[in-house]
Amino acid sequence: MAGKMRNCQRCGKVFVQQSNEKICRDCRDAEREMEAKVMEFVRSNPDSKIPDITEGTGAEESLIRRMIDEGRFERSELKSYPCKRCGKEIVAGQYCESCLSEMQENLQTVNAKIAAAAAANAKGKGMHSKTLGKK
Ligand SMILES: [Zn+2]
Ligand SMILES: [Zn+2]
Repeated sequence: MAGKMRNCQRCGKVFVQQSNEKICRDCRDAEREMEAKVMEFVRSNPDSKIPDITEGTGAEESLIRRMIDEGRFERSELKSYPCKRCGKEIVAGQYCESCLSEMQENLQTVNAKIAAAAAANAKGKGMHSKTLGKK
């Protein structure tokens, strides 16, 4: 028989896991209901922000975040929401411009380090290729 017992990540109740769901059926139904509520709220209140939605629907911010990540909202339905990193109001993606460029820079630094390390490694290997074989 498929399915193992596990605790629901949302309510803590033990349920039989069929695939890889992390929450029980009750919670999933509740979440679906909440999602529908959020969609309805956003449709009838265009230009909503996350705090408006949480207040208007009682939905968790994390749920709304997930819906944003999943691209559930039209641009016109949700005008702005906070940047995941600094909280500044943004209209697209998950981060504001400054966080994006900052992260881009960080990424470039990391990439440069990796490239440098790889180059050094390759160089080292080349230099010791004869001795490496003996090890
Ligand atoms: Zn549950
Ligand atoms: Zn930001």
